[in-house]
Amino acid sequence: MNRTYDLVGIGVGPFNLGLAALADPLPDVDAVFLDQADEFRWHPGMMLEGATIQVPFLADLVTMADPTSPYSFLNFLKHTGRLYPFYIRESFFPLRSEYDQYCRWVSERLTSLRWGRRVTAVVPTDDGFEVTAQTAAGTETYRARHVVLGVGTTPRVPEAFRGLVAAGADQPGVPAGPAGPVVHTADYLPHRDALVASGAVTVVGSGQSAAEVYRDLLDDAGPHLTLDWVTRSPRFFPMEYTKLTLELTSPEYTDHFHGLPGALRDTLGREQRNLYKGISGDLVDDIYETLYRKSALGRPVPTTLLTDTEVTAARTDGDEHVLTLRHNQLGTTAERRTRAVVVATGYGSSVPGFLDPVRHLLNLDERGRFAVARDYTVDDARRLHVVNAEEHTHGVTAPDLGFGAWRNSVILAGVTAREVYPVERRIAFQQFGLPATSGTGPVDDDGTHLAQQAHLEEVAR
Ligand SMILES: Cc1cc2nc3c(=O)[nH]c(=O)nc-3n(C[C@H](O)[C@H](O)[C@H](O)COP(=O)(O)OP(=O)(O)OC[C@H]3O[C@@H](n4cnc5c(N)ncnc54)[C@H](O)[C@@H]3O)c2cc1C
Repeated sequence: MNRTYDLVGIGVGPFNLGLAALADPLPDVDAVFLDQADEFRWHPGMMLEGATIQVPFLADLVTMADPTSPYSFLNFLKHTGRLYPFYIRESFFPLRSEYDQYCRWVSERLTSLRWGRRVTAVVPTDDGFEVTAQTAAGTETYRARHVVLGVGTTPRVPEAFRGLVAAGADQPGVPAGPAGPVVHTADYLPHRDALVASGAVTVVGSGQSAAEVYRDLLDDAGPHLTLDWVTRSPRFFPMEYTKLTLELTSPEYTDHFHGLPGALRDTLGREQRNLYKGISGDLVDDIYETLYRKSALGRPVPTTLLTDTEVTAARTDGDEHVLTLRHNQLGTTAERRTRAVVVATGYGSSVPGFLDPVRHLLNLDERGRFAVARDYTVDDARRLHVVNAEEHTHGVTAPDLGFGAWRNSVILAGVTAREVYPVERRIAFQQFGLPATSGTGPVDDDGTHLAQQAHLEEVAR
């Protein structure tokens, strides 16, 4: 294949699918997107029936960049005859399964997607890169001027569980031994029956996924199922969702965060966990209400909820798993037995091995992470772009579906050297960093001090 694409996307999760949808109508962008999976599937292991997405439907693949796009969530509802029920439902938050259906609907309408292609190498060429993908039939190569890395994040498994976690979904119901399965939330649903059948499950972790799994298993908990929930967090903290805090998912806060020293960014990243790694308040209350209801009806749930408690070791002993727990405040340790474990400890990103041939071109920080520039590139030639691999450099916007279209607009501006979709520079009422002006003097129509406006345009350039 000697065609050179303007853009080759690696991985087709929501972010690169959004990029494909935004690139589709552009006559000057010849793009192709490769994914190792056979079709689009969004987090099938956590496709819990009642779960909703955590962002409004406007955070679809395209609307925040182009509200007229045919690939919008509203257009999907119209085409599938679901617009009026959605309108009457009056909720901003679609079901997770609806979002998955919507992304599949978009993926079936795009001609630039290639499924069943596992990328194994990216090598430099004179005018960009050559991307090699493994297919069922052999290998394929794609020449590209720009590459966009959208391989998402992979399950993070704490050291204590590394030897026990069942590998992937292709072992549902087949426990490693007499004890029940130990699975990451990414593989929860295929293992649900085996977890319940084990008779005693421990959920480890404190985020939204941990809470969703605990709530889901709570329906079965009782005489035949003991359910524990252990987290090293000081409390089961809620996701913060207040409007001024939500302004942190903005271009200008991302400018501010990106401009900070690396060590301060890492500290802030840990401090800001409650912005997107907490539990939705409704779900926390629903869990409490369920426990309350069951105890009031004389059917108390055999459950133990532990905070400030770390699992420092885990081993299997016959039909049980033995967890070594350490209380972080008391410094005391204890062993606790269970029959199955759900590891709800999140996801992480890393520099994929298939980039080794271009490693010399990559900007990496002292910890070997991508040193991602503000325009989402990781090389000096600004031809290698990343999506959702920049949490440590750009902050909370990285995994946020609501920010995908904005980031893709910046990437397309980099590929086409023109702003094909308007890129907002300022959306927040707050200002991040100290004002450059005295605070008095002429202001313009939106109340910004003219001198301040000049300063902000300078920063955004
Ligand atoms: C259960 C769950 C629910 C979430 N809900 C929300 C939410 O409501 N709101 C929100 O803002 N965020 C949410 N997130 C966070 C985030 O938006 C999602 O993780 C999102 O899926 C990230 O999209 P992505 O495009 O980066 O990658 P992914 O969805 O992880 O997709 C990456 C793709 O890359 C492919 N791939 C990987 N390696 C290769 C390779 N070598 N070759 C070819 N293809 C490859 C994979 O097959 C996969 O299809 C959620 C996360 C989880 C886990």
